[in-house]
Amino acid sequence: MTFSKKLLNWYAQHGRKNLPWQKNRTAYGVWVSEIMLQQTQVVTVIPYFEKFMLSFPDVLALANAHEDDVLHHWSGLGYYARARNLHRAAQQVRDEHNGVFPLSFDDVLALPGVGQSTAGAILAQAEGQRHAILDGNVKRVLARFHAVHGWSGQKKVQDQLWVFAESHTPKKQLADYTQAIMDLGATLCKRSKPDCEVCPLNAQCVAFATEQVALLPTPKPRKTLPVKSVRMLLLRNDSQQILLEKRPPTGIWGGLWSLPEMPLSDKVTDWCSEHYQLEINTSEELPVVRHTFSHFHLDITPCIADVNNPGQSVMEAERRVWYKACQSNRSKQNSEQTMGLSLGLATPVSNLLNRIYEEKP
Ligand code: SF4
Repeated sequence: MTFSKKLLNWYAQHGRKNLPWQKNRTAYGVWVSEIMLQQTQVVTVIPYFEKFMLSFPDVLALANAHEDDVLHHWSGLGYYARARNLHRAAQQVRDEHNGVFPLSFDDVLALPGVGQSTAGAILAQAEGQRHAILDGNVKRVLARFHAVHGWSGQKKVQDQLWVFAESHTPKKQLADYTQAIMDLGATLCKRSKPDCEVCPLNAQCVAFATEQVALLPTPKPRKTLPVKSVRMLLLRNDSQQILLEKRPPTGIWGGLWSLPEMPLSDKVTDWCSEHYQLEINTSEELPVVRHTFSHFHLDITPCIADVNNPGQSVMEAERRVWYKACQSNRSKQNSEQTMGLSLGLATPVSNLLNRIYEEKP
C-alpha cells in the first residue's frame, strides 16, 4: 500500500475533522488558520481563530479593519509580523482581486506572509488542488520516514524533503491527505516520544527500522542567544494610568503598544525629564523579567515611576496614550483582551500591567 493510502486510511479513523476552519470551509478561513498555525499549536489557535472570524468574517472585513484592531485580536499569539502580513495581504486581495480570495497558486504565493508550503496547504484544503506541503510537522515525518540527515534549514536538505513531499502527494483527496500528514506529525510522529508502535507508516519507516528516530530530524545547530537588557518604564499619573507608546511598524512587536524603554545606565529622573519633560516623584525597580525571542533574550528591568502632574505635555497624537485596565473585567490570561481599551499589547507588557494593577488595593 502506498504512503498516501496508508495515511488516508489512518486519517479516516483518527484524523481531526471538526476543526473550526474545516466547517463551511472557505479559502479565506483556511488561509487565516494556516497563518495562525505557523509556529503555534492547534489547541492554542482554536479560540483565537473563532474570535478572529467573528470580528473579520471575510477578507473585506479584514482589509478594511484598523491595524490596531487586527493586532489586538492577535495579542498573545506571538510572531506579530504574521498579523501585519495578514492585514496587508487582505488589502492586496481587496485591491488586486476585487475582494475575492485568489485560487491560483501564484496569486496566493504572492500574498505577504505566504510561502510555498502555506500556499499549497491553503489550496489543497480549500479547493482540493494538488500541491505538496512541507511545514514543520511534515518535515519531521519525512526526515524520519526516509532517514534524511541534516538540518532542514539547509537548502540541500530542504530540496530533498520537497522531492519526497511531492512524490507522496496523491492525485485525489488532497484536502484529507494534507490534513492527514499534518495530523500525523502533530499527534503520532511528535518531536519527542513519537508513537511509532501505532503509526500507520512504521513498516516502511527507515528511522524506525534503524533505531534512528531520536536522532531525526537533525536539530538546528545551537548557538548561544545573546542577551540584551533594557529598563521599561511604567510611568503612572495621578489617575493610576500608565503611559503606553505605539512601536514603529516594523521590528520587534511592530505596531503593538508598549512601555517606554530606556538604557539601564541612565538615571530615570534625568531621562524622563529630557525625553518626556516629566518630573518623577518616586520610582521603584521591580525584579528582572526575561523574554526570549528566536534570536535573543531580552532582560527587562521594570521600573514603576509616579509622575508629577503630566498634563498633556507628553502626548503625541496617535502614538502615546494614558492607559488604565478595567479592573472588574480583567482576565488572568489575556488581560489585553479585556482591558478598557482594545489595544494590541506585547505579552510581557500585558503581564507587567496585570501585575501592577493586581498589586493595587
Ligand atoms: S514510525 Fe515513528 S518515526 Fe516513523 S513516521 Fe511513524 S511515528 Fe514517525
